[in-house]
Amino acid sequence: MKEVYGIDLGTTNSCIAVIGEDGLPQVIKNLEDAATTPSVIFYDETGEPVVGGEAKSMMGSDIKRTVAFIKREMSNKNYELDIDGTTVTPITASALILKKVVDDANEQRSYEGLPPIHKAVITVPAYFGNDERERTKQAAQIAGLEVLGLLNEPTAAALSYGTKGLNNKTFMIYDLGGGTFDVSIMRMENNELETLASDGNHHLGGVDWDIALIDYALQKEGLDVTYDDIKDSKEVGKMLVNAENCKKNLSKADKAAFKFMYQRKMHFIDISRSVFEELTEDLVDRTINIVEKAKKLALERTDNLNISDIILVGGSSYMPMIKKRLMEEYPNCNLRLDNLEPDRAVAKGAAIHASSLEGEKTKVTLGDDLATRSYGIRCYGSEDRLIVQNVIKRTDSLVYEGSTGFTTREDGSTSVNLALYENISTDEEVELEKCTLIEESELEWGFPVPAKTEITAFVVRDSNGIVNIKVECQGKTKTFTIKGEGTLSEQEIERERRRLANKHV
Ligand code: AMP
Repeated sequence: MKEVYGIDLGTTNSCIAVIGEDGLPQVIKNLEDAATTPSVIFYDETGEPVVGGEAKSMMGSDIKRTVAFIKREMSNKNYELDIDGTTVTPITASALILKKVVDDANEQRSYEGLPPIHKAVITVPAYFGNDERERTKQAAQIAGLEVLGLLNEPTAAALSYGTKGLNNKTFMIYDLGGGTFDVSIMRMENNELETLASDGNHHLGGVDWDIALIDYALQKEGLDVTYDDIKDSKEVGKMLVNAENCKKNLSKADKAAFKFMYQRKMHFIDISRSVFEELTEDLVDRTINIVEKAKKLALERTDNLNISDIILVGGSSYMPMIKKRLMEEYPNCNLRLDNLEPDRAVAKGAAIHASSLEGEKTKVTLGDDLATRSYGIRCYGSEDRLIVQNVIKRTDSLVYEGSTGFTTREDGSTSVNLALYENISTDEEVELEKCTLIEESELEWGFPVPAKTEITAFVVRDSNGIVNIKVECQGKTKTFTIKGEGTLSEQEIERERRRLANKHV
C-alpha cells in the first residue's frame, strides 16, 4: 500500500491520518501523544514560532503574540499580522500548522523506518471559494507537501463513515467546529457518494459560544464592557482559555465555574447549563437557518429529499444543546455522534481519499461533489448595465466546464479583456456588486482576427474546486491560469518553503 496521508487543517485543531496495514484509516498522534493538534501559533520573545498544544497553553499569557483561528481569515486577501516585526499571513500561518503536524508524524514514522511524508490530501470547508482553496494549497506546498488534492470537509467526514448504515440513504453532515460551521446534504447510492448541497459560515463556531459566555460573565459582574472592549491582551487570552474550559465542562455537568481577570481584579461566577443554552440560542438558530438554506439548494438537484440521518462532526457538536435542537427540528432523523470521534472523522476521510487517488480500492467511491460558489464573466446586461453572467453555478458539479460566447469588436483583435467573478447566486445574471472579482486580465490568443469573430470563453473548475479559463478562437484553444489576488507566485512559494524547511516549530 502506498504511503499517502490525509490532513484536516482545522480552524481550532488539525489532524493527520494514514491508511494502516489493515486498510483502515488511523490517526497519527502528535509528539504530545494527542490525536489533534491545536491550530495555534505563539511567537516567543525571540520571534520564533511555537505551534500546537504548547502555543495554546501560552496563548493565555499574551494573545498579541498568538495566532489563532487563522483559517477564518483565509478569504481575506489583505489580512496580515505584525508580531514584533514578523509578518504573518493566513498562508504562512497555515504552512506552520501543517509543518508541525507533518514533522511530528514524521518523527514517529522514522522510528518505524518509514520515509518522510510527501503526498497528502488536505481538507477545506465546502464553502471555500477559489482563492481560499488556492491559498490552502500554497500553504501545503510551503510546508513541503505535494498536494494530491483538496477535499471538502463534509465529504471527507462522510467517506470516513464508510458504508456504515448509510448506503442508499440521504443524510446530512452537520459540522460545527471551533470557528466555522459547515453543512452538507449527501446521498449514497450503491456505495457512491454524491453531494446534493453545501453551505456554511466561516465566522460561526465554538469560539462564539466562548465569547457569549464571557459577555454574560462581564455583565453579571456589573462591568459595563463587552469582550470586544477589552484591550489587555493577556486578560483576553486567559478569558478565552477559561471560557472554553467552562463551556466544555457544561457539556458534562449542569453547572460550571468561570473565573476571569479584568483590570487586574479576579472575578468568579457560576453558570448553569440552562442559562448557557439560553444565552447562545441565537447561535444555534443561525446554524439551523443555514441547514434550511442547504435543504432548499438540495431541492434544486433532487425532487425527493428525505434526509434519514444527521451526522455530527466538529468538536462543538459535543454540546448537548446541539443534539437537543436537531432532535426537535428534525424528529424523523437519526442523529449519529456516538463512537464517531467527530474531531478525527475529517482527517480519516482525507486519508481514504488520498489512497483512492493513488489507485487503491476503497469501500465508498466519490461521485458528484460540489463547491458552493458560482463563477461568471462580467458583461453588459440590459440598459448597458454591467452584470456578471454565471457560467458555473454553485449547484453544478464540482468538476465542471461552463462557457460563454462573444464576438470581437474590431478588425485585427488578438486578445480579449475578461473579468472573472465569484458569487453565491444560482441566477443566470447577477448584479456586479454581489460578486467578488477573482481576476481581470487581457487574454491573448496570439493571432489577429477580423471584427465579429466568434470567441468562446470556458471557465473550468477542477476537482480541487479551483478555476481556470480557456479561450477558443477559430478552432485553437489556450488555457490561462488564474492567480487570485493575495495568492503567491511560484517563486514566492519556493522562497517560503526553503525558509521553513529547516525551522523547528
Ligand atoms: P474542531 O475545530 O472540530 O476541533 O472543534 C473545536 C471546538 O470544539 C472548540 O471550540 C472546542 O471548544 C469545542 N469543543 C471540543 N470539545 C467540546 C465539548 N466537550 N463541549 C463543547 N465544546 C467542545
